[in-house]
Amino acid sequence: MNEREDLHDIRRAVQALCADFPGEYWREKDRERAYPGEFVDALTRAGFLAALIPEEFGGSGLKLDAAAVIMEEIQAAGCNGASAHAQMYIMNTLLRYGSAEQKAQYLPGIASGELRLQAFGVSEPTSGTDTLSLRTVAVRDGDSYVVNGQKIWTSRVEHSDLMLLLARTAPRDQVKSKTEGLSIFLVDLREVQGKGLTIKPIRTMMNHSTTEVFFDDMRIPASSLIGEEGKGFRYILSGMNAERILIAAECVGDAKWFIQKATVYAKDRSVFSRPIGQNQGVQFPIARCYAQMRAAELMVHHAARVYDEGGNPGEEANMAKLLASEASWAAADMCVQTHGGFGFAEEYDVERKFREARLYTVAPISTNLILSYLAEHVLGLPRSY
Ligand SMILES: Cc1cc2nc3c(=O)[nH]c(=O)nc-3n(C[C@H](O)[C@H](O)[C@H](O)COP(=O)(O)OP(=O)(O)OC[C@H]3O[C@@H](n4cnc5c(N)ncnc54)[C@H](O)[C@@H]3O)c2cc1C
Repeated sequence: MNEREDLHDIRRAVQALCADFPGEYWREKDRERAYPGEFVDALTRAGFLAALIPEEFGGSGLKLDAAAVIMEEIQAAGCNGASAHAQMYIMNTLLRYGSAEQKAQYLPGIASGELRLQAFGVSEPTSGTDTLSLRTVAVRDGDSYVVNGQKIWTSRVEHSDLMLLLARTAPRDQVKSKTEGLSIFLVDLREVQGKGLTIKPIRTMMNHSTTEVFFDDMRIPASSLIGEEGKGFRYILSGMNAERILIAAECVGDAKWFIQKATVYAKDRSVFSRPIGQNQGVQFPIARCYAQMRAAELMVHHAARVYDEGGNPGEEANMAKLLASEASWAAADMCVQTHGGFGFAEEYDVERKFREARLYTVAPISTNLILSYLAEHVLGLPRSY
């Protein structure tokens, strides 16, 4: 593939950085359910997590295609970008809708690594995918908003200084359209720890630093509001296209890792006096996963291009996420099968990556919801919910 030279250079640089974080590092973090702070610091120091921040604020001012390449290479190297990916995709909301003061206040610190913007509070236990039914409220009181409610699956919040929070600022029955009345806040977590904010970790299938977050009369300055009050859902939606493209790029990276790992093993493992990879029953699943991954990869590049050219990549971003998450999960399953019993042994890293890859047909948006988007918004089929 002839890739632009700048993107190729980024790939090489990310590969070099990831080489310092081999399987043993991730296995230990996984065993202890510990946050890979050293890895996130290294990414930050190298400037990768500031890729999307404009140069005037200390970032590299790159486009989404470069951010996608960074996330893909992290996964393809066997590392886990979930420890840091939110900064890339949350950034869009701050860049597009934040005020000049908010950008000047936060972006240089985020670019230098002094501040981490790694937490995104959208999901709630009762509303699930039906975001418009969320119940967390933010009520204006003088120069503040007072926040009450609960979020779930708020990942990395214990390792972040800032959180992007979606909350209701107008009751649902008092707004013209159901998409109005939600607002986005940039919450400085350092100011509210122990003052109305409680965080409860959730132990999950893989090491993901995810939590439940409770707001009990949590007071935040009115200046935390991003953009206009009541328009938060629209802002979040536009950010979600970037998020889906970046997650899809991570899935392509995962699929590459599984395919490479299976290919090497299939050449090396000898059973019945010949390499298992000589059997077409072993070759074909690997080849099929390769084709599936390449198709998804093309869609990811296409979606990133539409996004970077200023178009609306709703269709492409959703398809990229759908195809890439299915390609990575198929490759994960194939890789375990190719390894036989050794696919279950911790030291091969296959079972860890398998558990990590399982997430992406569910989060940040599940496959069914993507299919219903395509059915309704692209194909014009009747709305189902
Ligand atoms: C490890 C992890 C980390 C996460 N990190 C974050 C985070 O940082 N911030 C955040 O805000 N959220 C986060 N999430 C939440 C994630 O985005 C949601 O779990 C995901 O969007 C699915 O929502 P849900 O779990 O409420 O499922 P539900 O909405 O309860 O859906 C359950 C199942 O029903 C299906 N379903 C629901 N409605 C329909 C329908 N109308 N038609 C067809 N099928 C339907 C869904 O496809 C899904 O398979 C995380 C989740 C996990 C597991």
